[in-house]
Amino acid sequence: MNEIDILAIFAHPDDVELTVGGTLLKMKSLGYKTGALDVTKGEMGTRGTVTGRAEEADEAAKILKLDVRENLELPDGHVWLTEETRTKLVRVLRRLKPKVLLTHQIDDPHPDHNHITQIVREAARLASMQKYDGDFGQEKIKVPIVAHNIFSQRVMPSFIVDVSEFSAQKTEAIRAHKSQFYNPESIEPETRLTGKGFIDELENRSRYFGSLIGVTAGEPFYVREALNVEDPIALLTRPMNLYS
Ligand SMILES: [Zn+2]
Repeated sequence: MNEIDILAIFAHPDDVELTVGGTLLKMKSLGYKTGALDVTKGEMGTRGTVTGRAEEADEAAKILKLDVRENLELPDGHVWLTEETRTKLVRVLRRLKPKVLLTHQIDDPHPDHNHITQIVREAARLASMQKYDGDFGQEKIKVPIVAHNIFSQRVMPSFIVDVSEFSAQKTEAIRAHKSQFYNPESIEPETRLTGKGFIDELENRSRYFGSLIGVTAGEPFYVREALNVEDPIALLTRPMNLYS
């Protein structure tokens, strides 16, 4: 049985590590089953090869302790919301049965990222309708909730996950993508991501979002739907060390 609790669906083989690596490590430490679905193989990337990037993704998956890491194999740079892409994702969702999906930010400026938010939101809903792709023989699932990682635009987070304990492992998982980030020995072209300062930038970002809830490192999420809260006192009295 490959069923998981939470699935991170991002465009390129290192996007999961850059955005929600800490949250996935934390969920694993709480006993949940975690997974990543890379939508493309990243073949449009300036650096690296498809095979090399797949090996790096496997290495990073071990560091993130993922139960599942798969690739949807859509063409990098040409990801669109279509009947075919929705159905492909519905089949994965019905097989893995995640309760929560993490994905890119709505209206992310990268077209693949943005189209993936559309595919994820529609597939999440369609997976709950038995007659959609019914001939394929899978059972419908309950609609998984979609939480969008906030990365490229300023959006007020719906919640921030305290990932302070997992910062070092998150960075290690990012560095497993050796072809993509700072490597003084590489002879491939430089990009913004391969500069020395990029990992610092990511750590500063985590520190900033952590500071909003009074912890060392945080990962921010936006949920478009209203949240159903059982106990507002328990929720609202979670420590935010800002006030002490
Ligand atoms: Zn990406």
